[in-house]
Amino acid sequence: MQLLDLTIRQIHEGLKSKKFTSQEITKAYIEQIKKNDGIIGAYLSLTEDLALEQAKKADIEIEKNNEFPLLTGVPFAVKDAILVEGKIATAGSKILENYVSPYDATVIEKLKREGAVILGKTNLDEFAMGASTENSAFKITKNPHDTSRVAGGSSGGSAASVASNEAVFSLGSDTGGSIRLPASFCGVVGLNPTYGAVSRYGLIALASSLDQIGPFAKNVEDCKIVFKVISGKDKKDATNQNYNFEDSNLKLNGLKIGIPKEYFQEGIDKNVEKVVKDAIKKAEDAGAKITEISLPNSQYAIACYYIIVPSEASANLARYDGIKYGFSEKSAKDLLEVYLKSRGKGLGREPQRRIMLGTYALSSGYYDAYYKKAQEVRELIKKDFVNAFLKVDLIFSPVAPFTAFKVGEKANDPLSMYLVDMYTSAVKLAGLPALSLPAGKADGLPVGLQIIGNYFEESKILSVAEELENLL
Ligand code: GLN
Repeated sequence: MQLLDLTIRQIHEGLKSKKFTSQEITKAYIEQIKKNDGIIGAYLSLTEDLALEQAKKADIEIEKNNEFPLLTGVPFAVKDAILVEGKIATAGSKILENYVSPYDATVIEKLKREGAVILGKTNLDEFAMGASTENSAFKITKNPHDTSRVAGGSSGGSAASVASNEAVFSLGSDTGGSIRLPASFCGVVGLNPTYGAVSRYGLIALASSLDQIGPFAKNVEDCKIVFKVISGKDKKDATNQNYNFEDSNLKLNGLKIGIPKEYFQEGIDKNVEKVVKDAIKKAEDAGAKITEISLPNSQYAIACYYIIVPSEASANLARYDGIKYGFSEKSAKDLLEVYLKSRGKGLGREPQRRIMLGTYALSSGYYDAYYKKAQEVRELIKKDFVNAFLKVDLIFSPVAPFTAFKVGEKANDPLSMYLVDMYTSAVKLAGLPALSLPAGKADGLPVGLQIIGNYFEESKILSVAEELENLL
């Protein structure tokens, strides 16, 4: 049996019927990572000891009781911005190169409780700033479908780990597209939850009004299994909502799907557009009613996002001062020099750029013109979606205007890197949930269909995605 191809449910059945043990599965994954990850670069660090210990514990549980949670004994990977107690969490930055997490993020606590097995920490753009994982201070993650191309970002390592069978599932975080984009580029399923659905406690912050943790998986069902476990109320995150996920059996037949006309205009690659439109046609053939809708203010999403995110990031990153956390420059003569040199050497170009932009946008005299204005535009973007959901059940769009680009192609052009988020950032400014579903290939590379739902309607997204997954 090919252990590495199995889904969560298949592993669960296999463990139940004693076809294999969690230790066997875990070792197979560790072996695959050691053999394969030199080329892909999905992981920054392995937590092999922890994994083997957790797998052993899972096997004992399974031996004792034949009824056990679906995730017991299942190995997964974690974006290196999410804390795992006692393990390094770099957030892809030199400034946190040796930072050891003092506690578990809530999502990790929940997954540990289910008996899931942590294989290691995955690569990301520094502080999740980027769309290609090339902004990592440590390495570039390659796309498993074509290693001359990027995996997408910022959760590129998490997407690539699942796509290259180096993890059964993984966790990422999405601020402006960081789950959906790499999922689309790597051909896996990725879910960005509603803002407030999953606790952010223990996630190293980029922009706190947007960040959400979500799963990557090989199929929609696996994604749902993980989401069910990690979502729900957590007192440690004040923005987290009391949310009980319940399965929906919504079907495409009779469903109203909105297609935002603004998401199919200039800039989209023709072959990507065709894959997305073919998927929409499949939904229509299955009985869905397709209506054109308008999200007129989405055109301002990038401009608005790149004011709000740097502003919040400039505040969030102020804590990396060479004193409280991580790297501290030893040669500094006084306190000011500690700050300047530690931040100067410890932070890469993109975080520095955003700290400067954000500090400027928040500064007295400019606050009204930039930050406040961006928040007003954010309201307009949100209202477009609220209005649209009065008429339709779900919205379908591309995840990205193109497939995975070449390593180096946009690395030195921050503006063109920002444009990668043109279809994913508006959804985040509105706080909505959205999933990237592999819809087919364009020029041999995966294309994701973005399925956007109303607030806390992940169940609708997932059940429709599951039906469509079978049709595609
Ligand atoms: N590419 C976007 C940015 O650089 C999104 C990143 C993310 O979602 N973390 O901010």
